[in-house]
Amino acid sequence: MSSQPLPVQTASDAPASAALLARASEVIPGGVNSPVRAFRAVGGTPRFMASGSGPWLTDADGKRYVDLICSWGPMILGHAHPDVLAAVTEAAARGFSFGTPSENEVRLAEEIVARVEPVEQVRLVNSGTEATMSAIRLARGFTGRDVIVKFAGCYHGHVDALLASAGSGVATFALPDSAGVPRSSAGETIVLPYNDLPALEAAFAERGHEIAAVITEAAAGNMGVVPPAPGFTEGLLRVTRANGALLVSDEVMTGFRCSASGFYGLEGPYAAGAPDLFTFGKVMGGGFPTAAFGGRADVMALLAPQGPVYQAGTLSGNPVASAAGLATLQGCTPAVYERLDVVAHAIADAVASELSAASVPHTIQWAGSMFSVFFRDGAVTGYDDAKDQDTGAFRRFFHSMLGQGVHLPPSAFESWFVSASHDDEAVDHVIAALPAAARAAATPD
Ligand SMILES: *Cc1c(COP(=O)(O)O)cnc(C)c1O
Repeated sequence: MSSQPLPVQTASDAPASAALLARASEVIPGGVNSPVRAFRAVGGTPRFMASGSGPWLTDADGKRYVDLICSWGPMILGHAHPDVLAAVTEAAARGFSFGTPSENEVRLAEEIVARVEPVEQVRLVNSGTEATMSAIRLARGFTGRDVIVKFAGCYHGHVDALLASAGSGVATFALPDSAGVPRSSAGETIVLPYNDLPALEAAFAERGHEIAAVITEAAAGNMGVVPPAPGFTEGLLRVTRANGALLVSDEVMTGFRCSASGFYGLEGPYAAGAPDLFTFGKVMGGGFPTAAFGGRADVMALLAPQGPVYQAGTLSGNPVASAAGLATLQGCTPAVYERLDVVAHAIADAVASELSAASVPHTIQWAGSMFSVFFRDGAVTGYDDAKDQDTGAFRRFFHSMLGQGVHLPPSAFESWFVSASHDDEAVDHVIAALPAAARAAATPD
C-alpha cells in the first residue's frame, strides 16, 4: 500500500465506469438518477457497480470495494443476502404486480406495526419522498391547517414543500433551495434551526394556529449525523400537543437501522406523548422501492378510501418489494444490531485515531450504528455547524479510500452505513486503508 497520499482518482483508474458515465450522460441528465451519485462534491469518476455480495461491491472494471454506503442504509444485511434473495425469487415467481391487494403487503404492514409501538396503521408507498409527501398532506387534512415546520439540514425527500434548507444532495451542492418550487409552496414552510426549542416556541407563538405539523428526522442523518439534543424530541411533542399540531417523525433513514424499532426504540417512549405520524423507507424495502407512512389510527382513518385525503400508487405494496422488505426485517435479529455496533465502532475508532495521528481536525457523531465523520473540531448541533467543515480534507480522504478499495459516501454531509455482513476481513481492509487516507486529508493539494 502506498504511503504517499493518493491523488484524486481519474478516468484512467476506472475506464469502464468512465465509458458508462459518458454513455449515461447522453441520455440521463448528469449521467445519474440521483445527484449525489455523480461525485460532483469530490470530483472524479463515479463507479458504476456491476454486482454486490455481502459487504463488497464490484465495479464495471472488476475492482472491489468495501461498501460503506449500503445503498444509503437499506442493505443492512449485506448485498444479495441469501434469505432475502430466496424471498424475492419466490415472490417473483408468483408474479410481479397485480394491481390488487395481496398478502405480502399485509405481512410487511403487520411487521412494521408490531415493531413501532405508536404506529397503529401504515400505508405502503414506493419511496421515502412519497411517504413524507403523503404524511404532510394527511397532517394538513387532519388539522385543516397549511403550514409545515421543518428544520434546516433535515432532508425529507424532494417534496416541494420540504426542499427548503434540506441536507443531503442539496447540502452537497450548496444550493440554497431548488429551482422550480413555487413561492406559494415554499411560503407554507417555516424552516427553523435544528435542536433549537426557543426558535420553535417563537414560531408557534407567532403562527401556531396555522401550523399543521412539525416534521423532523428522528435523528438527523442528512447533514451528517446530528442526533437530537437531550429533551429536543420531548420539546417537539410538548409544543405540537399544546398547539393542536401533529409531529411527523421521519425515520426513513433511521427506521429499523438504529434499532429494531428505529430511533424511536433508542429514544422513546416519551413523557410528552408519541409522534403522531412516522415515515419509513430504506431498510424496510431491503433494497427495493418500498416505503411507508403510518401512525395514529384516527389520523390514518382520514385516508381514502375511508376518508377524504387522497393517496394512491399503482405499485404500492408491490408483492416482490414487500417480500424483500419483510425478509430483511425478519433478518434483523438482535445479533445483527450487535454486529452493526461492533463494526461501526471498530471503523470509527480507527478513523479517529488515524485522523488524530495525522493532525486532521475531526468530530464523529452517532445515531445508533449510523455515524459520520465531520472534518472539523467541536460538536455539530445543526446545519450551520455541519457546513463549517473542511470539505477539501474530506475529498482527499475519500479519494485515497476509494483508490484503496473502500467506497465511502461521496459527500461530507452524509452518514456512513455498515451491514451485518461486514466481517473481519472487510473491517480490516477499511482499517488498513486509513493511515494513507488520513495523511492525504492532512496534505492540501
Ligand atoms: C432518504 C430519505 C428520504 C427520501 O427517501 P427516498 O426513498 O430517497 O425518496 C426522506 N427522509 C429521510 C430522512 C431520508 O433519509
